[in-house]
Amino acid sequence: MDLNTITEVVRRPSDRPGVDWREGDAWLAGGTWLFSAEQPSLHRLIDLTALRWDSLVPSDAGLGIGATCTVRDLHAFVPPDDWTAGGLLAASCEAFLSSFKVWNAATVGGNICMSLPAGPMITLTVALEARYELWAPDGSTRWVDALDFVTGDHRNILAPGEILRRVDIPASALRKRTAQRRFTLTRLGRSTVFLIGTRTPGRSDLLLTVTAGTTRPVRIAFDALPDARTLRQSIDAIPADIWFADPNGTPDHRRHLTRHYAEEIRRELMAGGPA
Ligand SMILES: Cc1cc2nc3c(=O)[nH]c(=O)nc-3n(C[C@H](O)[C@H](O)[C@H](O)COP(=O)(O)OP(=O)(O)OC[C@H]3O[C@@H](n4cnc5c(N)ncnc54)[C@H](O)[C@@H]3O)c2cc1C
Repeated sequence: MDLNTITEVVRRPSDRPGVDWREGDAWLAGGTWLFSAEQPSLHRLIDLTALRWDSLVPSDAGLGIGATCTVRDLHAFVPPDDWTAGGLLAASCEAFLSSFKVWNAATVGGNICMSLPAGPMITLTVALEARYELWAPDGSTRWVDALDFVTGDHRNILAPGEILRRVDIPASALRKRTAQRRFTLTRLGRSTVFLIGTRTPGRSDLLLTVTAGTTRPVRIAFDALPDARTLRQSIDAIPADIWFADPNGTPDHRRHLTRHYAEEIRRELMAGGPA
């Protein structure tokens, strides 16, 4: 869509963009959301893709993902064999309700910063215990846990002018066993719920990440695999006001699906004992 309030597009921002941030500015990544809706309060777009940040940097420490890495490139990445959780990278990309354009242009950082309940890059990075590097307009940098970034539907902790620069997923999380479940009303539809469970090799812990059904990600952690009743009680303890309501599901439906799939994940990760 034409954005007729935009009077300037900064195609070559400085290496440390944000110093001249002003009201009416927006960071432009893939533009798949920015160009899909009216943006009456915006006057200037600052193109982050021009900064040519490294997309994917695998190392012994884990996987660094530049915020402007496209979903397509993340999907094409082949993780090392010992990253048992590596399959989640592609599976989460496939959780997008996406057209050809969205698939090829949308970025990991743009998806996280949109902070929609059905943001699959949020699900992925929270489940894999990622940390985000944020750049402030004054030149300072802060790191936050992925879990703490999204605070509600289309809401997050970014201050005006702040940028999500990079996502770091630790190798320890990439070596975990995983199980995931997702429900959509239609075959390629938007997620009604998207849950991921992880378990440390040689241990019987469980980290359950609940997303899409809730307005912000929820993590439920157990030192030892819980029984079915304990797991269900922990889901029932999720505050009533954060279950999400939209045409893809009522809060009650989403809570019901979450209980059901969490139990399936528990059973799947329990099978075989400590890995
Ligand atoms: C047909 C269609 C289907 C879609 N399906 C889904 C879906 O299933 N799930 C979902 O979550 N979304 C969906 N979206 C919304 C959106 O396209 C995606 O969230 C996409 O990942 C946004 O990424 P982008 O790079 O295009 O972001 P942009 O559109 O460029 O930007 C999105 C927002 O994030 C800000 N931003 C971008 N990058 C940064 C950064 N690095 N630091 C700070 N702020 C930043 C921008 O200023 C803007 O406010 C869909 C959109 C369409 C049109």
